[in-house]
Formats: sequence, structure tokens, C-alpha cells
Amino acid sequence: MLFSNFPFSKALLKAISEKNYTTPTAIQKKVIPLVLESNDVMAKAQTGSGKSASFVLPLLELLAQKKSKDTFKKPRIRILVLTPTRELTLQIAQDFDSFSRFQTKPVKTVSLIGGENIGQQLFDIQQGCDVLVATSGRFIDILSKKQTNLTHIEFLVLDEADKMLDLGFAQELQSVLDSLPTKRQNLLFSATYPQKMIQIAKRIT
Ligand code: AMP
Repeated sequence: MLFSNFPFSKALLKAISEKNYTTPTAIQKKVIPLVLESNDVMAKAQTGSGKSASFVLPLLELLAQKKSKDTFKKPRIRILVLTPTRELTLQIAQDFDSFSRFQTKPVKTVSLIGGENIGQQLFDIQQGCDVLVATSGRFIDILSKKQTNLTHIEFLVLDEADKMLDLGFAQELQSVLDSLPTKRQNLLFSATYPQKMIQIAKRIT
């Protein structure tokens, strides 16, 4: 199977080929069609399996297909990705940027990581973005400022969710979920599924 077998736009296929990806990895083969069909997905995935592209690619496709409903000039946050680490956050944000770069309107991505000026990050969000990629800790800080409009979020991705649980995210998860629209597509990636994770999966997918 090749990436060109997926119903992706020409612009997306061009970006994939420029990255020298030809064959989808096992997780990409399974997850991409499910996401494109608007399912909630819970996947067992290790780092290095190609899991980032398994959600970045179909979400970019869905975003381009489902044009934003409002005609507001500034982009609104439609995708929220939470991760446990700054490295993963930056890598995923870069994937959204590079894979969308041949689209007529490439997505605007903001990444939020700890240790950087929170005022500047709030400003960046308020300037408008389609995709917000954040470490779970910094996202909770941003949430507490109550200055971010999350009402347009259509897709929630929890990546390396077991590692976020290790950082105490289970208690904070409810306030994250409460801040998002209830109608949304949820994607959960975790290398392990302890009992606690299964409960979380039941709550969100
Ligand atoms: P990830 O597990 O998402 O962190 O991906 C691990 C590495 O594999 C990254 O450097 C990706 O750019 C690369 N990668 C992901 N999918 C593919 C693919 N289908 N073909 C070639 N490289 C890939």
C-alpha cells in the first residue's frame, strides 16, 4: 500500500512525498482510514511507530474538507493536541506546518510549552490559529487564565496519554474536557493501557 491510495488532496500527497514517506507504517494503515471516517480512535502506539503522522495527516485532510463554519477572518482553534513533553509538542507542531505547506491556506499552528513566557503564548493564541499543540501542564496553566476561546474545537488528540497520566494529568483531565465542546472527534494514543487509562478512554472516546 502507498500513501497515494488514501483519499488525500494533491497538496497533502505532495508534502508527504517531499518528506520521502512512501509506504504507511502499520499504525498509519490502521488509524488514517478510521480518522477520515470521523471515528473516535484509541490506539496502542509506541514512539517511533509513525503515530504522529497517523493523526496529523487525516486531521489536515478533514480540516481542509470541512471548512470552518464561521466567516471570521482570524482562524479559530479547531484541533487541540495534548502531549507530555516539549519535544513531542514541537515535533507535532512542525508536522502540522510541514504537511500543510502546499495547501492554498496552510494551517496556523501555535505550540505551548512550559518554561516560556505565558503572556506571549496567550498573545499568539489570540492572534488566531487553527491548531494548538500543548504540553498538558502548560495547557492547564493557559486554561486557568480563562482568556482562550476553545468553543470551536472539533478534534481532541491525547498523545502518549500514559505519560501524561504519570505527570498527574488524570485529575486535570476533567477540567480540560469541561472546557471543550462535547461534540468533537477524539483520538487517544498510548503505549500502555493500565486500568486508569481504560477509564479515561471510556470517558473520552
Ligand atoms: P513518530 O513515531 O510519529 O515519532 O515517527 C518516528 C519517525 O518516523 C519520524 O522521524 C517520522 O518522520 C518518521 N516516519 C513516520 N511515518 C513514516 C513513513 N510512513 N515513512 C517514513 N518515515 C516515517
